[in-house]
Parts: sequence; C-alpha cells; structure tokens
Amino acid sequence: MPQPTLVWLRHSLRLRDHPALVHAAERGPVVPVFVWAPDEEAPWAPGGAARWWLHHALQDLDEQLRERGSRLILRVGPSAETLRAVAEEVGADRVVWNRRYEPNFAHRDDEGQAALQAAGLETYVAESQLLHDPDGVETTSGGPYHVFTPFWKKVRKENLLETGPPLDIPDLPAPEAWPSSEPLEALELRPEARDGVDWAGGLRDAWTPTEAGGHDRLQYTLDTVLGDYDTDRDRPDVDGTARLSPYLHHGQISPRQVWHTIESWADDTGRHGHARPLLRQVVFREFAYHWCHHYPDTPTETYRDKFTDFPWRDDAEALARWKRGETGYPIVDAGMRQLYETGWMHNRVRMLVASFLTKDLMLHWRHGAEWFWKTLVDADLSANTFNWQWTAGCGADAQPFFRIFNPVSQSERYDPDGTYIRRYVPELADLPDDVIHAPWQTSAARLKALGVTLGTDYPRPMVDHAEAREEALAAYETVK
Ligand SMILES: Cc1cc2nc3c(=O)[nH]c(=O)nc-3n(C[C@H](O)[C@H](O)[C@H](O)COP(=O)(O)OP(=O)(O)OC[C@H]3O[C@@H](n4cnc5c(N)ncnc54)[C@H](O)[C@@H]3O)c2cc1C
Repeated sequence: MPQPTLVWLRHSLRLRDHPALVHAAERGPVVPVFVWAPDEEAPWAPGGAARWWLHHALQDLDEQLRERGSRLILRVGPSAETLRAVAEEVGADRVVWNRRYEPNFAHRDDEGQAALQAAGLETYVAESQLLHDPDGVETTSGGPYHVFTPFWKKVRKENLLETGPPLDIPDLPAPEAWPSSEPLEALELRPEARDGVDWAGGLRDAWTPTEAGGHDRLQYTLDTVLGDYDTDRDRPDVDGTARLSPYLHHGQISPRQVWHTIESWADDTGRHGHARPLLRQVVFREFAYHWCHHYPDTPTETYRDKFTDFPWRDDAEALARWKRGETGYPIVDAGMRQLYETGWMHNRVRMLVASFLTKDLMLHWRHGAEWFWKTLVDADLSANTFNWQWTAGCGADAQPFFRIFNPVSQSERYDPDGTYIRRYVPELADLPDDVIHAPWQTSAARLKALGVTLGTDYPRPMVDHAEAREEALAAYETVK
C-alpha cells in the first residue's frame, strides 16, 4: 500500500475544486490535517468573528469528510513540527497544500516548507487561492500594476486568469490507522469557549458558514442578484451583492468556482452584460492580492511615503465612538452596528465609515483596519489592507485624499428611504425619510414630537462634517 499523504488545510476549507486534495488522492491514502497555530500568524491571527466562522467551517469539513469515510485531524502547535509529528505517526512521506498569497502568511509557508523538507518529507504546493499568478502579470515596462483598469484589461486580453472547469471531489482512501486528533472545542474558536460570553447570535442569524452555504449563496446570486447587480451593488438597503466574501476568504468556495459558475450562467442565458460587473469585482479581489503580494509591508506601513508624516490624531474616545456606532451620523452608525452584529458590512458603507474615520476624525487608517480585522467574518489581509489604504488616499490607485465622502448626501443617495438606517439604528426607526439622514438639522421640538431627543436617545454628530473636511484638507496640504 502506498504511503499516506498529508493535506495541510488552511484557507481551502472545502472538498470541491481542491487541487491539493486531488493530488494527494491520486497517490493513495489521504490524511487531511488542520493545525491551529495562532502565534505563528500574529499579529494577523484570525479575529473573533473569523474564528467563529472557522469553527463552523472545520466542523462542516469534518462532517463532509466522514460521510466519505475520511476525517479531519485537528492539532494545536507549531505548524511544521506538528505536521512532522503527524507524518511520523501515520507513516506519511509527503505533505501537500494550496498556496496562500497574503503577505505575512506566504513567507511563513515558505519557512514551513523548508522545515518539512529538512525533515525528509516531500512537499507539493498547489494553486487555488487566486485566478492569476501575481508574479506572472506585469506591466509593459515590467513590475506590478498599481491601477485596476489596466490590470483588468491585461488579464482579460492575454487570458491570464485560470478559469477552467473546477475539479470534482476525489475518492479519499483512508490510511490503515488514523492519527490522533484534538476535539474541535480544544481550539477555543467560539466566543463562549474563550471568554464565556456568547455574542455570536447575530452571526448565527446572518450566515450559514458551510461549503453548501457558499454554494447556496452563489445560486441565490445567479437567481436573484445578478440581474440588477450593476444598479443595486451600491445600495446597502437591498440584498444586491453576492455576499460571498467570507466563503472566498475561508476557501469554502474557490474564485474559479465563482467565475466558472457565473460565466456558465451568462453563456446559458446570453446575459454576459449582467455577469461582467460581478466578474470584474472578483478580479478586483485578485488586484488587491496582486498589490499586497508585491508590497508585503502594507498591512502595517503606509504605501505613499508622504503620508508617513500626516498629522493623524490620537483620540481614544473618538475611536471608541466610531467602533460602537455612536458618531451621530446615522449611515456611519448603521454600518458600524451592522459590522458588529453580523460580521459583515456593505462595501459602499465600508468606504463611508473608512472615510469618516480617516478624514472626518483624522484617525490613522490602521486603527480602522485593526477593528475590521477583529469584527469581519471575511477579514482578509490583502483585501482589508488594500481597501483601507485606498480609502484613506495613501494606497495604490487610491481615492484621492481630497475626495471626502459627505455622509449625509451619500446616505440620501444610497439609502434613500432610510431602510438600512432603520434596520441597524432602531432608535431612529420612526423618523421620516426627510429627517433620518441628518436628524440634527431638524428642530429639537419636531424631533421630540417624533420621539427622539439628541444627546439622550441618539448622539449629536461628534464633528461638523463641513468643518472636519476643511481641517482634513488643511492637514493634507502639509504633506502633499
Ligand atoms: C475599508 C474596506 C475594508 C475591506 N475589507 C475587506 C476584507 O477584509 N475582506 C474582503 O473580502 N473584502 C474587504 N473589502 C472589500 C469589499 O467591501 C468586500 O469584498 C465586499 O463588500 C464583499 O461583499 P460581497 O461578497 O457581497 O461583494 P460583491 O460586490 O458581490 O463582490 C463579489 C466578490 O468580489 C470581491 N470584491 C468585491 N469588492 C472588492 C474590493 N473592493 N476589494 C477586494 N475584493 C472585492 C469579493 O471577494 C467579493 O466577495 C473591504 C472594503 C473596504 C472599503
């Protein structure tokens, strides 16, 4: 009987379209292993919301494997050492995995690979996290892309995306004897297991964190979202985007599966024009990874040098109010509360709250990126880093710093009936449409008649947007 192969699982928590699993199954017995080593990933070990998701993703994967006569081996400890020990226990001669491209993780994987090889184990690294090879796409003058549109044109025109048909689930031969495994609870991923408090009720209500849940959401996207995606994608008050980001982040669905399914839908229905805007966003994810791969310091270092001297403020109370969704700007507060309650926030509102933090409050973008890291179920080092630097005006292809979102006009435009605000800021639910976006502009008497006293039921705005904008622009003048 051939020696078993270990499949080291990290962000590919699925059975379908899993190149490392297919590779292992072609050789003989397969031992799927997940090693929990948060210290190795510090400071970017999964945050609370992502840990909750991870718990359920691992549980789901184990159940699916058991239905096929296999199982998931869980271990806690340093990755390479632990894998070596499992390999010895089960007599495996090879460890295989799907490559991770995020800065911070990529070089740790390289170190892990070197350690495994030094211990006499064969290794094989497959590709599945991205549709493109970040080192294989270059501008005409050489080097990485900094602007999305030329990147998009290049990968499409030169066929540089790996969009072939996804792989089927292979048969998974079992080893003669299974190695020992920790119980899932030993990883202490769920909040009640860690700190005795169950704050995950909102996450449970909002998500089905399984591989099947990802495929259901993709099917829903085809049936319900795609037709109006281009017009609805900026509307937080409607369910108008794919909501696939946590499934993509945890690898419960691969970008190739998403691409292939959408393109097949377009071929079948002839609606290529409807599919294209969403496919473009999927490639936007590639672009974020491309940029972070080439600028691996960006999770902590500001990309544009001139912003290093920007006079960011140091104001713990302002930061705390932003986190709690108590800024007094209803659309900003709705976004921050949606984030805390459901672990996700609509993209348009992510941009608004990020602009508010970095420009109206002039707090460093890293504070925002760190809070998102803790609270997003889709917290992803490349996407989060790229988008925070982009919104703050200091990244690649950035929104210029002087373009500062007005939280009131954005609210009126993208949440015209206040449906989104009413959902997440219930103390304002009874305000009429012409008041809800900026309640402080209405007289105290009228507000009182409507059941709201500012400063008691809901905060007054913590800054005056027009004044804050002028201050931010003046600060920008000092570094531009
Ligand atoms: C400040 C800020 C922080 C962000 N942090 C993250 C993060 O940690 N993780 C994350 O996955 N996304 C992040 N995003 C990007 C974006 O908000 C989410 O990917 C999107 O809201 C996910 O919802 P969806 O699946 O419905 O998106 P859809 O609009 O349906 O798009 C489909 C897919 O395309 C990709 N995509 C779409 N927009 C972007 C984008 N701007 N950047 C990168 N990929 C994109 C995602 O994988 C998404 O699932 C951030 C955006 C901002 C402004």
